[in-house]
Amino acid sequence: MKLGIIGSGQLGLMMILEGKKLGIEFLVIDSTKEGPASRIADKAFVNDEFREFVDSCDFVTYEFEHVDERPLNYAMEQGKLRPGMLPVELKRDRSKEKLFLRENGLPVGDFEIADNARDAARIGRDFGDAVIKLAHGGYDGKGQYIVKERTLEEELPEGKYVVEKFVRFDMEASVIAARDPAGKIAFFQPSLNVNYRGMLYYNAAPIEDCGMKEIVKALMEKLSYVGVIGVEFFLKDGKAYINEFAPRVHNSGHHTLMGSSVSQFEQHVRAVCGFPLADPQLYRSSGILNLVGLSLTDELRAKILARPETQVYWYGKDGIRKRRKVGHVNFSAQSYSDLLERIKTLSSLVYGEDLDQYFGY
Ligand code: AMP
Repeated sequence: MKLGIIGSGQLGLMMILEGKKLGIEFLVIDSTKEGPASRIADKAFVNDEFREFVDSCDFVTYEFEHVDERPLNYAMEQGKLRPGMLPVELKRDRSKEKLFLRENGLPVGDFEIADNARDAARIGRDFGDAVIKLAHGGYDGKGQYIVKERTLEEELPEGKYVVEKFVRFDMEASVIAARDPAGKIAFFQPSLNVNYRGMLYYNAAPIEDCGMKEIVKALMEKLSYVGVIGVEFFLKDGKAYINEFAPRVHNSGHHTLMGSSVSQFEQHVRAVCGFPLADPQLYRSSGILNLVGLSLTDELRAKILARPETQVYWYGKDGIRKRRKVGHVNFSAQSYSDLLERIKTLSSLVYGEDLDQYFGY
């Protein structure tokens, strides 16, 4: 079995690390051959070589939505692309994603679409408390503007926007799930996600479901989805509202690399290659701390490795800058409260008290 991955970042890297255990061969395509996944692939291609890449694979998947059109389209034409094109199209335009969710009866917060910056500012003002998001190109809090007292009109670049009413959530959460080509679905346990400046800071599982799994099942069925999906939620008064979904393995599912019977990465490989899905069991409370904007010095490595029940994943990206995810630390613990304690202790050791130095704009 040969699986192709479009995109060569850390998600592809971990997919390969996990999929190699099954004896699967991995081919990776991106704009260069220098990405973390390309460096450990069986064969790396650049985008111009898309035909040879697709023709060499049994199936093709993607580890990111914002990738070159050519391998995506050609893999689709060849009937090899999993999870398919619709999720990518929805993710490339936030307004399409939001409308798809609402039109399919899935719970989302109040929002309106604006065709230009002026309308976006006006709708934001009308909502009072709002988040204005560029429809194209935004992720990890990029292209987002928060309305408080100011109108923001002059600050917004021209473009199409989704204007969302600010959700006063009790917590953010996500569910990672997989669906196979025959429609069988398997869930991982929901996790708490703590974001800082629009990026995942740490997460912890398991938490209560609050109806999230049913919503994810309905979404996967509406998308005729094959593979792993990550769905982010706002939880408020015991009810779940979708913030957004990721048609791929997701940062909030990295905790499944430790303390679980199967990782989200292996599960994705199983699903897209048509192998039986695992029934994920969480053996111990598990979570992660994202490593953002840091260099992996020996001192930092030693600090992490000295902590109980941790594993470090360093992505080997070239170039460290603020807001860049460069690795993560996995944690497991006897109880959920011990887990949170361990994550927070390591966070203080790694970041000190000034997160903005690493997560700030
Ligand atoms: P996104 O890129 O849309 O996932 O947004 C990144 C983060 O910004 C979310 O995880 C939330 O912490 C925050 N955020 C985004 N949209 C809203 C909203 N409508 N209300 C409150 N917080 C939000």
